Amino acid sequence: MKISFPVLILSFLFSISVLYGQNYLDYSSEKEKAGYYLDNKGIIYFKFVSTSKSFINDLSQKISIDNIKDFRIGYEVFAFANKDEFAEFLKYNIPFEILPLPNESANFQASDNISEILAWDVYPTYDAYVSMMYQFQTNYPNLCKIVDAGNTVQGRKILFAVISDSVNFKKPKPQFEYVSTIHGDETTGYVLMLRLIDTLLSGYGVTPNITKIVKNVEIWINPLANPDGTYKGGNNTVNGAWRYNANSYDLNRNFPDPAAGPTPGGTRQIETTNSINLAKANNFTMSMNFHGGAEVFNYPWDTWSRLHPDDDWFIFQGIRYVDTVHANAPSTYMDDLLGYPNIPGIVNGFSWYRITGGRQDYMTYFHGSREVTLEISNTKLPNPSLLPTYWNYNAKSFLHYITQCLYGVRGIITDSLTGQPVRAKVRVTGKEIADSTWINSDSLTGNYNRPIKNGTYTFTYSAENYVTKTVTDVYVKNDSTTILNVLLRPIATPVISNKQVINSFELLQNYPNPFNSMTIVKWQMLNTGNAVIKVFDITGKEIATPVDGEFQAGTYEVRFDAKDLSSGIYFYKLTSGRFSDIKKMILIK
Ligand SMILES: [Zn+2]
Repeated sequence: MKISFPVLILSFLFSISVLYGQNYLDYSSEKEKAGYYLDNKGIIYFKFVSTSKSFINDLSQKISIDNIKDFRIGYEVFAFANKDEFAEFLKYNIPFEILPLPNESANFQASDNISEILAWDVYPTYDAYVSMMYQFQTNYPNLCKIVDAGNTVQGRKILFAVISDSVNFKKPKPQFEYVSTIHGDETTGYVLMLRLIDTLLSGYGVTPNITKIVKNVEIWINPLANPDGTYKGGNNTVNGAWRYNANSYDLNRNFPDPAAGPTPGGTRQIETTNSINLAKANNFTMSMNFHGGAEVFNYPWDTWSRLHPDDDWFIFQGIRYVDTVHANAPSTYMDDLLGYPNIPGIVNGFSWYRITGGRQDYMTYFHGSREVTLEISNTKLPNPSLLPTYWNYNAKSFLHYITQCLYGVRGIITDSLTGQPVRAKVRVTGKEIADSTWINSDSLTGNYNRPIKNGTYTFTYSAENYVTKTVTDVYVKNDSTTILNVLLRPIATPVISNKQVINSFELLQNYPNPFNSMTIVKWQMLNTGNAVIKVFDITGKEIATPVDGEFQAGTYEVRFDAKDLSSGIYFYKLTSGRFSDIKKMILIK
């Protein structure tokens, strides 16, 4: 039987109304409720049904979609909106149902007493949170430093606890980041991250795996990324916490996006700018951000359907995280099956539903920090008496996850001439297709960490003014580290010759000479061939190899930096085929 389109629509709406009562159809009364919420709270929470995933994905750039659930006749979509966003939604004339704000009935007593908070079953007041953070630094000055990453719209603070055995100086080790509660009403991770800070600090030197983590990783923890949202109801209560910042922007839709451009979520907010500045000033290897409203390990990409070239690594990490959770939690926790890769508790972001402007894709795409989103509790703002339970479910996974940034391939990249650290791009052949997946070594230490699934790879190291280096047959095992230190040779730069015709090999006198501590060595190639220049001290001991490569006929120069050498006479020798010549240079410091 053929069904005409209007009949199909009517039967569709009828089935919705049967399943959901009359609300979807009683459009005007829902609009009234929406008006009430927008006038009194500035925000609404609502649901609607759509049969088209691509429509939902488009809509997610206009309203803040919070969750979608598979539904017999389509998808049930849960979303937030402020006034402007809701006006956009209304243009589509889709029936909807207004829901109570997730935390509307929350009635919890926050505590300003630190020893009470240390039982971890209570939400702290804002002031207690801030003093607790600084107390960590006071109690553990050699392990913990509080970094103020900037203010919020209302002048509250975005604080990171940096935890490391070298917190007051820079050691070559990976940086790892945990950030929670960018949606102010999703508070489980907030208290759990405070507890993690305390656990890492008090466990150092006591518990072997914690000692190992604090020695080998620089851990950055921001328990509260959106304090204006969490303390919407005032500094002394989390009741009334809401998702957005004080300007009614969803901060996890406000980041530059690989597909949707630099400002997908409208005007860039101060909290976002602060996060971007922090990401630029550091070089994170891995990161995780905590949310609530679902229980799932969500990994990149959120913004487009193609898989990340390290999809196998993300799935492996998800399985590890969730398996460790399941060893410590009932099987019903974190077991949702939401899409690809069809493993309970793990989902590729786009396969669940598209978001743009999220932190996860921003950190992964623009900063090479493999970031995932952990939805940690179905209840956004749970009764605080449940927080120790969520801790017990996740505590081991939190620690294991930090450890993972030590695995894969790591090492130090230095200048072959000076031994100084080099900030270089590290690429893996076959992992660069269409996506930005390279990582950078750290400019201060030369340290790099490339987490990767087991296999045999070809690594390429490149930096401006250095000869690119390729290393083949790099073997990687899961849960272990392949150390690969790399020396990069500075490029000898061709110079314009004042001779028209070059008719001899020649090694010229360095200039300036005597020098302190930089000098330039020039030489001439008669024809194409290999050239090597080595530097020796007065005893004949080889000190450095500033040049080793293939050159065409022409005149070249190389800078030689002797800042680590002591004053004295040195010799530099050019060898090219049968030609060789040696000259003297004098270093005076
Ligand atoms: Zn969230």
